[in-house]
Amino acid sequence: MLKPIADRMAFNKLYGFFIKVRRGGTGIKGETMNKKIALIKGDGIGPEIVESAVRVLEVVAEKYGHSFEFNSYLAGGCAIDACGEPLPQETIDGCLASDSVILGAVGGPKWDGVPAEIRPEKGLLKIRSTMGLYTNLRPAKIYPALKEASPLRADIVDQGVDIMIVRELTGGIYFGERGYREGKYGEEAYDVEAYSVTEIERIAHVAFQTAMKRNKKVTSVDKANVLESSRLWRKTMERINKEYPEVQLNHMYVDNAAMQLVRNPSQFDVIVTSNIFGDILSDEASQITGSIGMLPSSSLGSTTRGMYEPIHGSAPDIAGTGKANPIATILSAAMMLRYSFDMEEEAKAIETAVDKVLNDGYRTADIAGNSAKALNCTEITDIIISYIKGF
Ligand code: NAD
Repeated sequence: MLKPIADRMAFNKLYGFFIKVRRGGTGIKGETMNKKIALIKGDGIGPEIVESAVRVLEVVAEKYGHSFEFNSYLAGGCAIDACGEPLPQETIDGCLASDSVILGAVGGPKWDGVPAEIRPEKGLLKIRSTMGLYTNLRPAKIYPALKEASPLRADIVDQGVDIMIVRELTGGIYFGERGYREGKYGEEAYDVEAYSVTEIERIAHVAFQTAMKRNKKVTSVDKANVLESSRLWRKTMERINKEYPEVQLNHMYVDNAAMQLVRNPSQFDVIVTSNIFGDILSDEASQITGSIGMLPSSSLGSTTRGMYEPIHGSAPDIAGTGKANPIATILSAAMMLRYSFDMEEEAKAIETAVDKVLNDGYRTADIAGNSAKALNCTEITDIIISYIKGF
C-alpha cells in the first residue's frame, strides 16, 4: 500500500529522493555529452558505495567536459519501509526516463520476513524485466596486485584470469511457469526452464560481439546431455556463430564448467550461459578473484540504457562502518560510460586509476590481508579521484 503522497514526499526529501547534481566541465577532450543517470542506492552499504561512484563520475564529467544529472530513487528494503513495495512506480518511471541506472544493492535481514511477493529481490527482478535488460555482463578478473587474495593455487593464478561472463537475464527458470500441484508423492512445487529461439539468438549475438572485442573465444555452457532447452540453446549458438566466423565457439556442460573454473580458469575468454547457470557460475568466478568488493556488472537490453551494479549484496554486516569497498561500484560506473555512453577514454581513465591505486598498495579492509593498512570507503575514493585528476 502506498502511503499518502505528503508522507512520501517528506520521506523522499529526507533521503535525497530526486537529488539533482549538475556538473559542467572544462571541455578539454571529446564531444560534450549531457546524460541523466538514475541512482538506486538501496540498502546496507548501497548508499555509501553509490556516493563514491557519483563522486568519481563528477570528476570525470569535470575533466572531460560532460554534464551528468543524478536523480535518486528508492528500491528494495528502504522502498518497502517508505511505500510498502520494493519497486515504486516513481522508480520505474525515473529509470525509464534516464539514460542509465546505477544500483547499489538491496535487501538485508530487516526484510527477510516480509511476504514473498514484496521481497526486495522481487523489485530487482521487476526492474530488470521492465527495462528489458536481457544481458548481464560480469567480468571476473584477477588483478596482479591482488593475486594473493585468490583462493586458487599460485601456479593457476599466474596463468592469468580475465573472463567475461555473459548471462541471459530475463528468461529461463527464474521467469518460467511455476506453482504447486498434486504429484506422484503428494504436493509438489515446480519451476519451468524454457527458452525461445529469439531469446537465445539475442544473447548469442551479445556474446560473439563481446568476444570480437576480446580474444575471440566463446564457451557456451549448457546441460544439453539432459535438458531439451539446452539442446535448443546449443543448436542456436552454433547457427549464430556462423555469422562470426572469427570467433571460436566451444560447448561445455555446466557441471564441467564449474570444475574448470577452479581448475584451469585461464582457458576462458567469454562464457555465455542461461539465467540460472550464469547466476551460479558468475558467483563462483567472483570468488576465484579473491574479493567480491572488486567486481562490477552491467545489464543491458536492446537500447543503450543499462543498469550497472556491483555483483555483491548490501553487506549489512559492515553497513555504516566505512569498511565497504566501493571499487566494484566505481568500476560499474566505468562500464556504464563504455557501454551506455560510448565514452571509452573516460571509462579507461577510471579503470587505469583503479589499477594504479592497487599497484601502489592502497587497500580497503576486504583486500588488505595482513600487511597493508586498510583505507575506508571515502579515503580510497579520494585516492582514485586524485589519480583520475592527475592523468
Ligand atoms: P553480500 O555480498 O552482501 O556480503 C557477503 C560478504 O561480503 C559479507 O561479509 C560482506 O561484508 C562482504 N562484502 C560484500 N560487499 C562488500 C564490499 N563492497 N566491501 C567489503 N566487503 C563486502 O552477500 P549476503 O551477505 O549474502 O547478502 C546480504 C544482503 O544482500 C541479503 O539481503 C541479500 O539478499 C542481498 N543481496 C542483494 C544483491 C543485489 O542487490 N544485487 C545481491 C546479492 C545479495
